[in-house]
Amino acid sequence: MAPLPDSKDFEEACRRHNLSVTPQRTAIYREFCESREHPSASVIYERVRRRHPNISFDTVNRTLSTLQRVGLATTVECSGEPRRFDSNLEPHHHFHCLGCGAIRDFNRGEQLDDFLLPEIFPESVQVVSARVHVDGYCEQCRRE
Ligand SMILES: [Zn+2]
Ligand SMILES: [Zn+2]
Repeated sequence: MAPLPDSKDFEEACRRHNLSVTPQRTAIYREFCESREHPSASVIYERVRRRHPNISFDTVNRTLSTLQRVGLATTVECSGEPRRFDSNLEPHHHFHCLGCGAIRDFNRGEQLDDFLLPEIFPESVQVVSARVHVDGYCEQCRRE
């Protein structure tokens, strides 16, 4: 598993992008880094609110978008609404459960990394990265 980004990364990224390091922003970032289940903004909001009862959903939502903009968060493609955020910045693939909405990381395997592009791609194209998104039902949902 990828190492958790630490608060130094956060402070540095803020400085680079002329953002002030506020206690609220730091709290949102911490909570986000500890949430490895690809949380939505409302999940992070509920958690941050426990220690910062005056924080607004809008602040949390905006801060998560900012984290994405400065490269400290990504969003999970193809999982629909609401947006789900990812703190694992290493290249990886996703399994998405259509029943409970769980999103799990899985690592690159040779077969996936070296998969051959269909011939529709011209040879002049340069591929930088490829992500696989798998939809299905998790063990729990299959049992129900
Ligand atoms: Zn499920
Ligand atoms: Zn992920």
